[in-house]
Amino acid sequence: MNDNATQKIRLIMELRRQGIVDTDVLSAIERVPREQFVPPTFRDRAYENIALPIHSGQTISQPYVVAYMTQQLQPDPRRKVLEIGTGSGYQAAVLSKLCRRVYSIERYRSLHNTAVKLFEELKISNITTKLGDGNKGWPEQAPFDRIIVTAAAPKIPECLVDQLNEGGIMILPVGPDLGNQHIIRVEKDASGSVTETELLAVRFVPLVQGLAIES
Ligand code: SAH
Repeated sequence: MNDNATQKIRLIMELRRQGIVDTDVLSAIERVPREQFVPPTFRDRAYENIALPIHSGQTISQPYVVAYMTQQLQPDPRRKVLEIGTGSGYQAAVLSKLCRRVYSIERYRSLHNTAVKLFEELKISNITTKLGDGNKGWPEQAPFDRIIVTAAAPKIPECLVDQLNEGGIMILPVGPDLGNQHIIRVEKDASGSVTETELLAVRFVPLVQGLAIES
């Protein structure tokens, strides 16, 4: 067995100890090659339970946080999911194993392009991507059964709540940049009323307004 495989098994066991009990989520994490989503210099650390830097000053989240948010999202094969913040594409790839279709928006063209290529290489065909400002959601494809935001917003973006289906769940980090951020679960019931629950304390890169300007 190569080193990656041994480390991957260790990581899955650690996630179970940390409270990730959904076996579908654990198996999705096992099936997505995280080493392909991190820069080459970090490949040997891909199965450590840590966040790692990616292009454009962004980060690929810690596996525990990916697993936690995915489990909170209660994914299943009937669901259509919107992700804000494609980044490396790792979270979208994990969701692609659990949901019918994933729509993912990124504001950096370079990250968007790299992720699109990687999805092709890995023959993942149920992710649709877009270069744009995730604050606006994806009105043409709304409503969504599930929404996950992987960058921290100062407050819950109303536009995304509007694009959440009845009976839908949104999981997102909320709080100031580099400050006191928490994962929040937003649930919309059958009558359209919304409840918010504060979950885990986290640290995410900020959800920024508008497209990124790249040289
Ligand atoms: N889900 C990613 C995490 C990337 S970090 C992964 O699995 O690797 C968060 C990402 O959100 C960054 O790539 C950042 O550029 C992006 N982002 C921040 N604000 C955004 C916005 N308004 N619209 C779209 N993407 C945004």
